[in-house]
Amino acid sequence: MDNYIVSARKYRPSTFQSVVGQKSLTQTLKNAIDAGKLAHAYLFCGPRGVGKTSCARIFAKTINCLHPTASGEACNECESCRAFNEQRSYNISELDAASNNSVDDIRQLVDQVRIPPQIGKYKVYIVDEVHMLSTAAFNAFLKTLEEPPHHAIFILATTEKHKILPTILSRCQVYDFQRITIADIAEHLQYVASQEGIQAEAEALSVIAQKADGGMRDALSIFDQIASFTAGNITYNAVIENLNVLDYEYYFRLTEAFLSANVPAALLIYKDICDKGFESQHFISGLSNHFRNLLVSKDAATLSLLEMGEATAKRYGEQAQKWDVRLLYKAMDLSNRCDLDYRVSNNKRFLVELMLIQVCQLSMPAEPVAQQPQLQSIKTAPQHAAQPTQAQAPTAQPVAQPTPAPQAPRPSAQAYTPRPVATKPATPRTGMPAPAIRINAQKVEQTVEREKRKKPFTQEALVAAWLKYANTIPDEVALFNTMQSHQPTLKGEIICKVDVESTIQQSLILVTKDALLEFIHNELENDYIDLETEIKMSNERRVSYSTGEILAAMKEDNPNLVKAVDILNLEIE
Ligand SMILES: [Zn+2]
Repeated sequence: MDNYIVSARKYRPSTFQSVVGQKSLTQTLKNAIDAGKLAHAYLFCGPRGVGKTSCARIFAKTINCLHPTASGEACNECESCRAFNEQRSYNISELDAASNNSVDDIRQLVDQVRIPPQIGKYKVYIVDEVHMLSTAAFNAFLKTLEEPPHHAIFILATTEKHKILPTILSRCQVYDFQRITIADIAEHLQYVASQEGIQAEAEALSVIAQKADGGMRDALSIFDQIASFTAGNITYNAVIENLNVLDYEYYFRLTEAFLSANVPAALLIYKDICDKGFESQHFISGLSNHFRNLLVSKDAATLSLLEMGEATAKRYGEQAQKWDVRLLYKAMDLSNRCDLDYRVSNNKRFLVELMLIQVCQLSMPAEPVAQQPQLQSIKTAPQHAAQPTQAQAPTAQPVAQPTPAPQAPRPSAQAYTPRPVATKPATPRTGMPAPAIRINAQKVEQTVEREKRKKPFTQEALVAAWLKYANTIPDEVALFNTMQSHQPTLKGEIICKVDVESTIQQSLILVTKDALLEFIHNELENDYIDLETEIKMSNERRVSYSTGEILAAMKEDNPNLVKAVDILNLEIE
């Protein structure tokens, strides 16, 4: 394994059959040769490394072959073929217009064109990167293209078809070469590996093929490089390390974190990626690609768009099943936006982290209404205070529910007179837990009205309903404790009042007030019940432990003590 011949040269295709990834195009060329319908000028367009020059050479060889095979290929045995294969044929001449683009270069070529071939039928002139010719050179060339000698065939090749003058285009038969698929490249690399006695993992070759971006020449050159690094044992790990490719594994792990809404894990994986020296932008586009691959894996119809090795494709299929397709769209949108914003962002790392958090949030369970910050709406006007997104959030099951639809922010801690039965409530009806994705565009007009209930209830029933609600939120420890230790008392017919000790406790209750009242209304079958809160210090002073606390308590009880301490300059230990 010491001497690697450059595979791109050694494994250059010698027949149309062996050209990788251009089946229909080579078939068309073969048919034309077979039918004897040759044009005088061809234009081969397509990205670099997809076989344009190789096809031009095979074409030149095949039309000059003395004994073409039954399948329309060059025999590779006759004198003409051997001359071609040994690169001593006079029937082919190649000009690289990238470096020879002057009028003189073209004139030299044009002068040769007149001389007929000595053996074989055609002289073929290949002009590579023909778009690089100067305008003067183009014009000089045009005359020859217009009236070429019978034996002359021109094959012009370009990576930039749009730069070819219309006058040239109109005189050529145009062939568009496609990027070679990753699967085709990987398959060919596998063939080369087997010929060279090189061990190569399929996933490793797939990564090389992706890195080569549809070009076989690049793929083979990367292949050679890695084969020599690894002494003929091409593993996936060796490839990603040598090519500085971000391991798929990161994206798979990250996606698991997204699916379990595990924000810390997502952030740590991203940190790991940064620590390894990968560009964040590279990471983001890789992530977008990962989402895209998951999406195409979800449907058998689009599975062919997934250009992956078999094992990786299987993993994509498995992970794709865990995603809701709408969430996947959303995730793609988030990563795409991050990609777009990245260049202009002043805090790039934060931007990426925010995106990761947002993708995690897609998998979080819908928040109960109680957790949505509604302090604002409670503080301000009691009516029409619903947040716009909430007001538009579709209420999923209001009609089917035997219990009433939940109600929007209510008049707050003030008494209000019950409205007559069956009038429209002034507040919009909203308040279902917002779905994970809010479909803002979809406005659901709520037209079904229900008569308000007004069943009498007792203090005991109220407390029971209160505690029952608390038991539905055992995870919200602070609120749970507050509700357990501070129970409401009934004031008048419908106002229940709860005294708390701090603004924090009050806020906790206000935030959950809508959901809480809705719950109580249903429990007690009375839609008029309202809730007031008041901050009251408990009369029973709690037991003080430290001297400082005792002193503070004493000072509070007895303002004169403050003076006494000051005047006497006492120090109390
Ligand atoms: Zn031959």
